[in-house]
Amino acid sequence: MIELRTPTQVEQMRPAGRFVAEVITALSQAADVGVNLLELDALAHRMIRERGAESCYIDYHPSFGASPFGKVLCTSVNDAVLHGLPRDYVLRDGDLLSVDFAASVDGWVSDSALSLVVGTPRPEDLELIEVTGRALAAGIGAARADNRVGDISHAIAEVGRAAGLKINTQFGGHGVGRTMHGDPHIPNDGRPGRGFKLKPGLVIAIEPWFLHTTDQIFTDADGWTLRSQDGSRGAHMEHTIAVTEGEPIVLTAR
Ligand code: MG
Repeated sequence: MIELRTPTQVEQMRPAGRFVAEVITALSQAADVGVNLLELDALAHRMIRERGAESCYIDYHPSFGASPFGKVLCTSVNDAVLHGLPRDYVLRDGDLLSVDFAASVDGWVSDSALSLVVGTPRPEDLELIEVTGRALAAGIGAARADNRVGDISHAIAEVGRAAGLKINTQFGGHGVGRTMHGDPHIPNDGRPGRGFKLKPGLVIAIEPWFLHTTDQIFTDADGWTLRSQDGSRGAHMEHTIAVTEGEPIVLTAR
């Protein structure tokens, strides 16, 4: 079911968006060569406790998950692109890291993700991150009242295709509200003018993710982490936004 929020409710969702943005910023500053992924999870967990927020991940146990997630953060490194379960791994020079974080504040959820390189970057990784960021911006730009979900999907995919990337439509954006995952699903490719008509008060996460040379992924032995079939690296960028009568509000803006 697709739910619309009143302007008052959208205002009530701002603290969650600000908090998630603060955590993503803190993680991006803390991530460096020599830092363990478990330290990043601990940092996010500490910030949750200090803020009195609630993790959307720690008890998350969907039908495809082997067991409850048990951490508060997704950390996907190199050929891992989504749902990376934090593990005892020390970041190395040139690693491409994606962090994905969602939490609830005052009963409202926000969800955001960011990719970065620690240490000396490969130029092609910086380019992949840049393209993914532009796809996110294009998707947000299409999130206007009277456009349709397919317009967001198409805007994202156009940026990816122009860069020669293949696009997976299995995992994408979603409605956000009292819980992390609601309707509608926002695939990262689609036909313009098709799908649910966007209305003021629709709050959604838009989240393009791309791999260098494939759109095929598989689940790691940990039961969560999604890796590229061919070992190529991935990037993932996400914001939670509210559709309005005018410009969309980026609730997780940093
Ligand atoms: Mg997310």
